[in-house]
Amino acid sequence: MARYTDANCRLCRREGCKLFLKGERCYSPKCALEKRNFPPGQHGQGRHKDSEYGIQFREKQKAKRFYGLQETQFRNLFDKATRQKGRAGDNLLILLETRLDNVVFRLGFASSRKEARQLVTHGHFQVNGKKVDIPAYTVKAGDVISVKEKSQSSPKFKEIKDMAITVPSWMTVDVEKLEGKVLNLPVRDDIDTPVAEHLIVELYSK
Ligand code: SF4
Repeated sequence: MARYTDANCRLCRREGCKLFLKGERCYSPKCALEKRNFPPGQHGQGRHKDSEYGIQFREKQKAKRFYGLQETQFRNLFDKATRQKGRAGDNLLILLETRLDNVVFRLGFASSRKEARQLVTHGHFQVNGKKVDIPAYTVKAGDVISVKEKSQSSPKFKEIKDMAITVPSWMTVDVEKLEGKVLNLPVRDDIDTPVAEHLIVELYSK
């Protein structure tokens, strides 16, 4: 599948907010947004007035890039969200948030969603004791996500055991066991993603 390989920081600058694509660097003064908080390119610092469509499009791009999805994946998830009960925008964010790669990232087992996706694809995780190597897998309330026993001795996971990790209120983590649990599915207020989801709904409803 085609993947965006240009400098990740350009994406954050384009969207005007941190998308947390580069792990620890995103939390440091080296973050490109700290120094150049304007869109990339020759006209990045010029004055722009976005159209209504432009504003909705940018919001969709931001959400898509935040979670590292391609357009088709994102659109499919939106279609799924509209088929569910409740507000499509809320459903979309909950579906994005409960993807296994995002959950692995939120549990602190990876420094970015991109790394989480790679670790999942490489088969380092189990859900309820069974290997799951599909980043798009949707977790459910009560699911236990753990690092596979064989992988626990790798330096990557060993260093996590010394970390203090804070997880969203809808999950718990046991760093010693390298295991996390989904207590309940998140509601919109539990999700801190800086996205105005109603703009995405408006965009796709045209
Ligand atoms: Fe975005 Fe991280 Fe780059 Fe900062 S360091 S611009 S948050 S990818």
